[in-house]
This record gives sequence, C-alpha cells and structure tokens, in this order.
Amino acid sequence: MDILFASNNPHKLEEAQAILGPSFHVVSPASKGLPGDLPETHDTLRGNSVEKAGAVWNFFQQDCFADDTGLEIDALGGAPGVHTARYAGEDKDPAANRRKVLRELEGLPFEARSARFRCVVALVEGGELTVFEGTCEGHIALAESEGVQGFGYDSIFVPEGLDVTLAEISIEEKNALSHRGKAMRQLQCHLQGNRG
Ligand code: IMP
Repeated sequence: MDILFASNNPHKLEEAQAILGPSFHVVSPASKGLPGDLPETHDTLRGNSVEKAGAVWNFFQQDCFADDTGLEIDALGGAPGVHTARYAGEDKDPAANRRKVLRELEGLPFEARSARFRCVVALVEGGELTVFEGTCEGHIALAESEGVQGFGYDSIFVPEGLDVTLAEISIEEKNALSHRGKAMRQLQCHLQGNRG
C-alpha cells in the first residue's frame, strides 16, 4: 500500500519506511513531482505538521502524513523547540545548529542538560485530520559523538537509558525508542485499523 509522507528529508523517509514496515510503501512528494521545502509558517510543531500535510493533500488530493520535530532543552527554557531546524540560521545547517547548542550549554554538567525530542505527526485521510505525538527523553552530550548514523541533532543527543548518542546506534535501535518511532507506530496502528 503506497502512503505519501509529506517530507523530502531522505533520513526521515528511511526511518518512516523502517517503522511502518513492508505493508506500506512510503512515497515522497518529490518522487511524485513536488520537490523543495514544504511550508512551515506556524509557531507550534502541530501547526507546522498540519500545514505540511495539508499542503501535500491539496496538491495531490491523496491521503498523506507529515512530521514536525523539535528539540526542547530544559536549561534553555525549551528552546530551540519549534525553531529547531533554523536554530543557527535560515540555511538550516545541521552542523552549525549542533555547535550552537553545545556553545549555549557550555559549562553545564551532563545532569543539567536534560532535553527531549518531540515529534508531531499529522495524517490527512479522506480530508480528515488525525494527529499523533511521540517524545524521546534524554540529555545533550558534553561534546559531539563520532557516530555517523542518523541526522540533525542525533550526534549530540543521548537518549534516556543509553550512554551513547542516537548517531551511534542502528536505525532499528533508534526507531525502537525515538520520538518518531513512537508517533509513527500510533500512525501504523491507525492505518492498519482503518484498512482492516
Ligand atoms: P523538521 O521536523 O524537519 O522541521 O526538523 C526540525 C529539525 O530537527 C531539523 O534541524 C532536523 O534536522 C532536526 N531533526 C528532526 N528529526 C530529528 C531526529 O530524529 N534526530 C535528530 N534531529 C532531528
């Protein structure tokens, strides 16, 4: 069953395919002729997720889901939050974003660096909206790890219960505990339930 994921981020597409499993074939807007960034003009993750899913629904008139993710760092009052992608600037440079986080937390011990990823998934199905949410608690590492798995902030995020970052574990291990894994397993149950 083809399912349209309103994202052109290859890492998110790969994770979504691994989470949803072989009964679904995750398809990107770009592969169907809609390349480029999708709109994210809201000041909440939910607003952006709904906006992206709505934009793709309007374009293709086909069931689709979107994901908007934010990193909330307690010592920074919940920042970068909805501004996670553009934390260090409009060019959305992941390395610059990670460096900015590490700079802002400089001098703080590991215990004071608590943070979480929050992922909001919006599904538009037959024009009807359903929203799912998943969080992953953890800490910001003292320094960037060497791991090359994952993307974005993975190499500076140590999930609760592990002593390595998300960039040092396999995609299957990340999906089992991640914000996106939690939100998209709810999506999977919903889709399977709706489709018998
Ligand atoms: P967006 O959801 O595509 O707007 O992503 C927001 C920001 O969070 C971007 O900088 C992404 O690189 C980053 N991001 C999203 N999901 C993850 C993740 O699973 N791990 C690490 N960084 C992520």
